[in-house]
Amino acid sequence: MARLSVGSVRSVLFLILALLPAAASAANPTTAIDDARLLKADSDTANWLSHGRTYDEQRYSPLDQINDRNVKRLHLAWSFETGLTRGHEATPIVVDGVIYFTGSWSVVFAVDARTGKQIWKYDPEVPKSYAAKACCDVVNRGVAVYKGRVFVGTFDGRLVALDAATGKPLWEKVTVDQSKPYSITGAPRIVKGKIIIGNGGGEFGVRGFVSAYDPGTGNLFWRTYTVPGDPSLPFESDALEKASATWTGKDYWKFGGGGTVWDSMAFDPELDLLYVGTGNGSPWVRHVRSPDGGDNLFVSSILALKPDTGQLVWYYQTTPGDTWDFTATQHMILADLKIDGQPHKVIMQAPKNGFFYVLDRETGKLLSAENYVEVTWAKEVSMKTGRPVEVPGQDFKDGLALVKPTAFGGHNWQPMSFNPKTGLVYIPAQEILGAYRREDNYKFNPGAWNTGTDFNVYSLLTPETVAGHLLAWDPVKQKEAWHHGYALPWNGGTLSTGGNLVFQGTADGRFVAYRANDGAQLWEGHGGTGIIAAPVTYKVGGQQYVAVVAGWGGAFGLAGGEAARSANATPGGRLLAFNLGPSEPPSADAVVKMITGKGPTKDGERLYHKYCAVCHGAGGIAGGAGLPDLRLLKAQTLDAFDDIVLKGSLVENGMPAFDKAITAGDTKLIRGYLDERRKQTLPQQ
Ligand code: CA
Repeated sequence: MARLSVGSVRSVLFLILALLPAAASAANPTTAIDDARLLKADSDTANWLSHGRTYDEQRYSPLDQINDRNVKRLHLAWSFETGLTRGHEATPIVVDGVIYFTGSWSVVFAVDARTGKQIWKYDPEVPKSYAAKACCDVVNRGVAVYKGRVFVGTFDGRLVALDAATGKPLWEKVTVDQSKPYSITGAPRIVKGKIIIGNGGGEFGVRGFVSAYDPGTGNLFWRTYTVPGDPSLPFESDALEKASATWTGKDYWKFGGGGTVWDSMAFDPELDLLYVGTGNGSPWVRHVRSPDGGDNLFVSSILALKPDTGQLVWYYQTTPGDTWDFTATQHMILADLKIDGQPHKVIMQAPKNGFFYVLDRETGKLLSAENYVEVTWAKEVSMKTGRPVEVPGQDFKDGLALVKPTAFGGHNWQPMSFNPKTGLVYIPAQEILGAYRREDNYKFNPGAWNTGTDFNVYSLLTPETVAGHLLAWDPVKQKEAWHHGYALPWNGGTLSTGGNLVFQGTADGRFVAYRANDGAQLWEGHGGTGIIAAPVTYKVGGQQYVAVVAGWGGAFGLAGGEAARSANATPGGRLLAFNLGPSEPPSADAVVKMITGKGPTKDGERLYHKYCAVCHGAGGIAGGAGLPDLRLLKAQTLDAFDDIVLKGSLVENGMPAFDKAITAGDTKLIRGYLDERRKQTLPQQ
């Protein structure tokens, strides 16, 4: 080997300097996210680059380091507290070792994927009065990343671009008429260099639309309305002119009409089609909205749009003339399936109405539809007409109707996943008995709650009338492969992996791994609160992680009354990351090395473990039996530390005085140790 000369050291130094700009950009890994990388997201197995991981939204990762043989060794690698309460519904985005996700109130976080340490936090400061515009909690389902920027839709209707390295806002645009009860809870998508964003508000009376913005400037590229507006004005498109023939009465447009694009999207680059799901009609009750009948296009529909223009190519309406809040905004998955021996490019959806739809995604033609939960409102979906065959009386035109599913849906926004190896779709399904009745003397009240139904019927929600299950559904045979029942509905979205696994969090705060092919439960961890969001998986430092956002809330978490309360959740959102623990216990030699290798124990640590750890836990980590976690003590508790520890001021709580054992000098050392533990545990604020 040649010896390094001074000259070669210089050239090495020069090389290092030349590489510096690249090293600096590594602090902002999303600079490398462009259209080419998004199109190849499937082979980028270490990352989770967009909402559904890939444009087909399968939420399947080929990663298999964690698999059905070793998942029992899965353990918590780290957790990150958001410091926020209310529902946490976000799917994290993972780019080259950094996780970007949202909590409630559209607050965005960037954390280190290996350690869970906070890199930055951005609070868009949504006015809290906007909670009155929330049908279903002040939630947010996540961000999009592209060319060095992170994009979030805020609850008050803004689209904000953040510098991915610092979290500093670069631009923001108001995407809705803020005088109306619009809100944004869905994650933006990046398609062909455009940010696609919709909104919600269908319970209050708004007109649905979806928009495309320029990621660089925030300028609007196009906007497509989903239902017709004021008939005295020109129609925005031929499609809306045709749609207007499916609405009756004079006032429908004054009610807004609904059809909001509040969550689901998918993109097929080959067919050049962007798919969006639309929400319920506004008001819910079709006899109010469109008194002489009509399908009310395009409420509760899947729309295929040209991503460059927003122009409609085809539509499929899952619930014509929807009157139950059976939105078609639920997660859509693109896949290639062999049906009757023939390959088909399909789009699949399990909307709230209880039927699982398989459509040809090129044409929108119905290929099959069967009920995936109990359905009382329709006998079937006719293959001849492509329409549901309604059961008389279930539309509560003339009185109370008991209906399954309900507005909570046989399946709601919680994303499902598709595993191409098992050929199964994993649906967070639920059974909730619903009662619908028209509100007496209903009158549209602009800006207020406007379903037109009598919400007293929600008193029906008791622990006995609800249930949930993880349903493994065969989309080719249109039947169940296996299911795993839960006492409660409103469980988390699903992730499936190449390790033959399905992961799902539950309403009662567990995080569970099942074997994908047969549903055997293989492992269970804990979220500390109800989990409703969908997990993701990624690889960093050679290790596979599974991460999920926990935080009970959302529509059922807030409105479910006694039934929701039985989830027994404690408020507080967090991001949890799990990886594989060691395959076997450490050897005696390794244990000795662990103890001696870390150097002399500091006095604070030694004193803590001598006097405190028997109750408060090794390392200051509370075991969960109700004693406080001493790593997380509040400032006022720390101020009173000596009163508590030496004088016994909290003896009534079971914390006796230790003045016979330790001195004020000792408590100072113990406090120092706990402070060190706090810094190791909490993100830098
Ligand atoms: Ca709705």
